[in-house]
Amino acid sequence: MDASAQNISESLLAWYDAHARALPWRAAPGAPPPDAYRVWISEVMLQQTTVAAVIPYFARFTERWPTVEALAAAEDGDVMAVWAGLGYYARARNLLACARAVAAMGGRFPDSEEALRALPGLGAYTAAAVAAIAFGRRAVVVDANVERVVARLFAIAKPLPAGRAAIRTAAGAITPHERSGDFAQAMMDLGATICTTRAPRCLLCPLSDRCLARQAGEAESFPVKPAKAAKPHRKGHAWWIERHGAVWLVRRQGKGMLGGMRALPDDGWIAGRDGTAVPPLAGPWQAGGSVAHVFTHFSLDLNLRLYSGSDWDSLAAQDGEWWPLERLDEAGLPTLFAKAARLAQATTGAGRGDEVIQ
Ligand code: SF4
Repeated sequence: MDASAQNISESLLAWYDAHARALPWRAAPGAPPPDAYRVWISEVMLQQTTVAAVIPYFARFTERWPTVEALAAAEDGDVMAVWAGLGYYARARNLLACARAVAAMGGRFPDSEEALRALPGLGAYTAAAVAAIAFGRRAVVVDANVERVVARLFAIAKPLPAGRAAIRTAAGAITPHERSGDFAQAMMDLGATICTTRAPRCLLCPLSDRCLARQAGEAESFPVKPAKAAKPHRKGHAWWIERHGAVWLVRRQGKGMLGGMRALPDDGWIAGRDGTAVPPLAGPWQAGGSVAHVFTHFSLDLNLRLYSGSDWDSLAAQDGEWWPLERLDEAGLPTLFAKAARLAQATTGAGRGDEVIQ
């Protein structure tokens, strides 16, 4: 480890000695390491779950099953019941599988990252955390908090997820050989309490004079997030058929998009089927403009066609209803079709366009 990396780890450990969070699964800074079983349970529970939410579950869990052998002998249903409310239930199933594997090995967790990683359901992060915290092994422990601190400390500009390799290398370069468990927990604490996602408290940070993101005045820009992928774009058609002050509305299929709602007849705006629209009536049709709409997973241009014929009787065999225009706001049209209806009324009121689409 070079002098600058050593300087970082020493500053961080000194800060941890004074500011470590007291958590029920932890040993005090510098004290002998805690029981691997408790470290392992806490690290599994903390995945995708906050410390505050985990504390009461951890207490109930370890009171009922104080050892890995006790957990290995538990009924699956009992474990799931105590886990209920923590979410991500695959974690509880993996926990049981792992407990039974450790019990079959004599009830002692292996003490190396590699051997821990070989246990069922125990991922790379958890193996590194247990190896470092419970066994004092030098292991590079990178959770979301550590990722944020390291990305800022070294102003790692490569966006996630590709930037994770550089973050991991940098985290490895500052991980000390001594007290690596305390170092891992110190990084977690710094990320959770000082180097927070928003408004990091750099004035209180023990690493502020070596932090490149802070020096650039851009702490919150790191880690760099990937550019948002553009939403797929679809095109579709809807038809406005008006007769004596009423418009033809249909009820959308129950399970599809906007299912069960009233709407203008349309072509389903299915991805990749642009231009295959079949109108509910033979022409004549006129262009009525288009409306743009953005759904959660795609954006849509809905082209409106205005019926200018008088063969309304052909609709009699189709599902739908004539809805009075003066009460159109009571039809409960979803936003997309409400926009299309406004456009149609503005267009028909102002006189139709010249373009004729048969
Ligand atoms: S100086 Fe600020 S941005 Fe840098 S590690 Fe400390 S809290 Fe995070």
